[in-house]
Amino acid sequence: MQQSSQSIQSAFPLLSSSDPQLAALLVDEEHRQRDKIRLIASENYVSGAVREACASVITNQYSEGYPGARYYEGQQIVDQVERLAIDRAKALFGAEHVNVQPHSGSPANLAVYLAFLKPGDTVLAMQLAHGGHLTHGSKASITGKHWNVVHYGLDPQTRRLDTTAIRELALQHRPKLLIAGHSAYPRLLDFAAFRAIADEVGALLMVDMAHFAGLVAGGAHPSPVPYADVVTTTTHKSLRGPRGAMILCRAEHAAKIDKAVFPGLQGGPHNAITAAIAATLNEALRPEFATYAAQCVTNARALADELMSNGFELVTGGTDNHLILIDLRNKGIGGKPLAAALDRAGLVTNYNAAPWDDQPPQNPSGLRLGSPSMTTRGFGETEFRQIARWLARVVDSGLDESVITTVAAETGALCRRFPLP
Ligand SMILES: *Cc1c(COP(=O)(O)O)cnc(C)c1O
Repeated sequence: MQQSSQSIQSAFPLLSSSDPQLAALLVDEEHRQRDKIRLIASENYVSGAVREACASVITNQYSEGYPGARYYEGQQIVDQVERLAIDRAKALFGAEHVNVQPHSGSPANLAVYLAFLKPGDTVLAMQLAHGGHLTHGSKASITGKHWNVVHYGLDPQTRRLDTTAIRELALQHRPKLLIAGHSAYPRLLDFAAFRAIADEVGALLMVDMAHFAGLVAGGAHPSPVPYADVVTTTTHKSLRGPRGAMILCRAEHAAKIDKAVFPGLQGGPHNAITAAIAATLNEALRPEFATYAAQCVTNARALADELMSNGFELVTGGTDNHLILIDLRNKGIGGKPLAAALDRAGLVTNYNAAPWDDQPPQNPSGLRLGSPSMTTRGFGETEFRQIARWLARVVDSGLDESVITTVAAETGALCRRFPLP
């Protein structure tokens, strides 16, 4: 994809002369995002306003500490920016305290471990292979090396979370921290049940809402905030902001959380990202965002319904949120070759472990799809149903290259009708 020097110059007037090689790559990426149907459940398109904040000169500044208590002079403005982000997050989610400084979701989760646990303490969390996250105690993550993480999974019959079984594990292992939250579970979470389990065993409850924070913000998913001691979230997934994170907590935990983020784990915050989080939350507080969140769920349901009509088997037989996990075993095709073929067809997805997968993580039996990005582009149920039919055509052709080429032309034509935000 080599772009004309004219289009590179208009997109990046300065970079195109100082570093034309990089400018050309960034334009290629913009065109990739424009020309393909992006279905990665953790991705989105931020607004132009959020991108302006990301690129602002506030990035030039160092601000170790917190508003009103910094270690550098020159904080008159950034203190107001960070307070704006905090106040908007509190208003949006009804939280008592918010830290907007974690550099991303994984460091936010690590800050919670650091705030409340000693190395070796017991944690109970969802296992990665059933939809949990690396930072929920996977052996590959520092969280699985420094803490004793016991995992709960899905019920083998329903492939849903069973809070009775989670309670039994909690009674047996007596965790100090109970974690709810996921990266690939298509159903709602029963936060009241998690709270009751935590109370019964004297654990703190952390909810990691990284994936569904936008749905919570828009009222399309129950909020964990009234139930949890601590809620962590990324800002760049369904919440549709820059790559960053936040920790929401009860006032009693505020000092511990803030100390764990800085100086426990990080130095200075990324001020341009803080500004962009403020811009994101301003958008998420508007009524249009509730419409967006509801549409994400409606679109995911339409996609799920049409996939099942085309013979696909979905984990839990559908979705209540923004994501879908296809179990491909009845189709006799691996997640990895399928994801690669779909990308050539203009449908960007990711291969994913299916629960009780008998295939290795490098080529698992699942494919994960999400609605947040294309809902931002304006796709509705009609377009999401069409996506399911394209997927079926590619799969049922046995990944035939001529079918892939035809579908690529059709996905490209649909994208042209829905411009970038
Ligand atoms: C994406 C995600 C994270 C981590 O986010 P990064 O910003 O990639 O570090 C943490 N928890 C869950 C549940 C996630 O889905």
